[in-house]
Amino acid sequence: QATQPVMQQQTPHSVLSSVFGYKQFRAGQEQVIDAVLAGQDCLVLMPTGGGKSLCYQVPALLLPGITIVVSPLISLMQDQVAQLKAQGVAAAYINNSQSREEQQLIYQGLHQGQIKILYVAPERLLTDDFSTRLQHLNIGLFAIDEAHCVSHWGHDFRPHYYRLGQLKQRFSHIPIMALTATADIATRNDIVMQLGLTNAHIYTGSFDRPNIRYTIEEKFKPLSQLMRFLKEQKGQSGIIYCSSRKRVDDIAEKLVDAGYNAASYHAGLENEQRTFVQNAFARDDIHIVVATVAFGMGINKPNVRFVIHYDIPKNIESYYQETGRAGRDGLSAEAIMYFDPADVPRVKRFFDDIPDEQRRKVEEQRFNAMASFAEAQTCRRQILLNYFSEYQGKPCGNCDICLNPPKQFDGTELAQKALSCVYRVEQKFGMGYVIEVLRGANTIRIRENQHDQLSTFGLGKDKSVEYWLSILRQLIHHGLLHQDITQSSSLRLTEAARPVLKGDFALQLAEPRLEVKHVYKDKLA
Ligand code: ADP
Ligand code: ZN
Repeated sequence: QATQPVMQQQTPHSVLSSVFGYKQFRAGQEQVIDAVLAGQDCLVLMPTGGGKSLCYQVPALLLPGITIVVSPLISLMQDQVAQLKAQGVAAAYINNSQSREEQQLIYQGLHQGQIKILYVAPERLLTDDFSTRLQHLNIGLFAIDEAHCVSHWGHDFRPHYYRLGQLKQRFSHIPIMALTATADIATRNDIVMQLGLTNAHIYTGSFDRPNIRYTIEEKFKPLSQLMRFLKEQKGQSGIIYCSSRKRVDDIAEKLVDAGYNAASYHAGLENEQRTFVQNAFARDDIHIVVATVAFGMGINKPNVRFVIHYDIPKNIESYYQETGRAGRDGLSAEAIMYFDPADVPRVKRFFDDIPDEQRRKVEEQRFNAMASFAEAQTCRRQILLNYFSEYQGKPCGNCDICLNPPKQFDGTELAQKALSCVYRVEQKFGMGYVIEVLRGANTIRIRENQHDQLSTFGLGKDKSVEYWLSILRQLIHHGLLHQDITQSSSLRLTEAARPVLKGDFALQLAEPRLEVKHVYKDKLA
C-alpha cells in the first residue's frame, strides 16, 4: 500500500510543479536557485522572457523569511503580485500609490509572517523608516530586478538604484540576487561592483533571438521605404522608433493619413495619453506605435511582428533591447534599421553637450560600436552576439547579410566619374548637387553655374539617385571623399582620390542594394 507522507520536504522541483505548474526548469534557473539556497549572491543575465522571475520566486518559497524584490515599475509589480496571488503565493507590494491604511496592513502582514514575497521600489527600500523596519524582519533574500539600473554604464541608469550598494553594508549576511536582460560586459562588471556582490554565482543565458531577422537598409527616402514595408505587413503589430519627438509625431500623422491604425508615444505626451496608447497597443486596438525610446520597459506584447529603427540608436544595448520587443511569441519577426552614414557625425555632435568627460567618452565609444555594427558587411547576429561576448562561429542565415550577401565589383570607373565630377564643380557642392550633375538634371541652378557644360554632366544618367548616393557614401567611407560640414557639406577630394582618378588603383565597391524584399519565411510559424 502506498501511504503519502503528510508533510513532504519541499524542493525546487516540487515548488516549480505544485505552485507554478511547470514540469521543468529552463536553462539556468535550477543552478541559480541552488546557489541562492546555499546562501550565495547571484547575478542572473537572461534575455527578456528567459524566465528570470522564477529564479527568485522559487527560493522565496523555500527560504525561511521574506524575499524582498526591488522593481522599478509599479505596473510590473502589480502584474507580478496579481499573478502570484492567483497561484496562491503570499505576495504583496508596497508603494506610494497606496493609502496609509493599505500600507499599514502590509506592514502588519510582514511582521506577522503572512507575506513571503514583497515588491518595493528602490526609493522606498532605502528610506530610513523602511530599512529600520527591515532590520526587525526575517529577510531571506534580496532580489534586484532590472539590475542594470545601478550602473552608470547601463542604458537606463537610475539614481535610486545606485544607492542599493548600501544593502550589502546593512544586511551583509543576506544573499542578493541581481537580475537583468542587459548583456553588455561593462555593465555586468559594474553591477557586481556597485552591489558589492561577493563570490557571486553568475549565470549568463544565451542572448540570441533566432526568430528575429535583422536587416539594415541604406536610408534613401525613409518614409517611402517605411510605407513599402508596411504595405507587406497586412495589419501586423509593430513599433517604429525615431530619434526625436517631432519626427515621431510627424510619422505617426503620415501613417494615420495613409490609413494605418497608428499612434505616437513619447515623453512629451500626457501620462493619460501614454497609458492609453500602451494599453490599446497591448489589446491590438492600435497596430503601430511610432515612438521615442520612452516606449520601453513594461511592453510585454507577445505578437509584435516588426520593430523599425528609423534612425540609428545610440548604442548596441538599446538596439538589442528595442529590437528584442519583436517576436516574443517565438514566431518570425523583423528588425529593420534605416541607416544613413551621414547620421554618424550628426549623432556624435550631440555627445559634445555631455558635461562629464568620462561619461562623454563612454557614450562615444558605445556609439562607435553601434556605428561600426551598422556599417559592417558581415552577419548581423554574429556581430551582435559577439559584442555581448557570446561567440558565434557561424553566420546565422537569418539576417540581410546572410540572406543576400553584398556583392563586390570593380568600381574604379564609377568612382572616377564621381570623383572627377566633384573636381569639376570645384569641390563646392554637396552630394545632392553632384548627383544631379552626374545624372544630367535640367535645373536652373545647374544652368546658372554652367555645369551643364561640364564633361561629367549626364555621365551617370543610367543610374538612379539612390544608386549614386550609395556610391558616394562608399567613396567617403573609403576615404576618397570628405564631406566638409563647415561648408554646407560640400564634397572634397582627399589625397587618396588621386591614384583612383589616375587609374593607378582598382577600387572594389559593394553593389548598392536598392530593393530590399521583406518576405516572411515562416519556418517557425
Ligand atoms: P523575464 O523576467 O526573464 O523577462 P519571466 O520571468 O517573465 O521572464 O518569464 C517569462 C515567461 O516564461 C513567463 O510566462 C513564465 O511563466 C515562463 N516561464 C518561466 N520559467 C518557466 C519554466 N521553467 N517552464 C515554463 N515556463 C516558464
Ligand atoms: Zn546572419
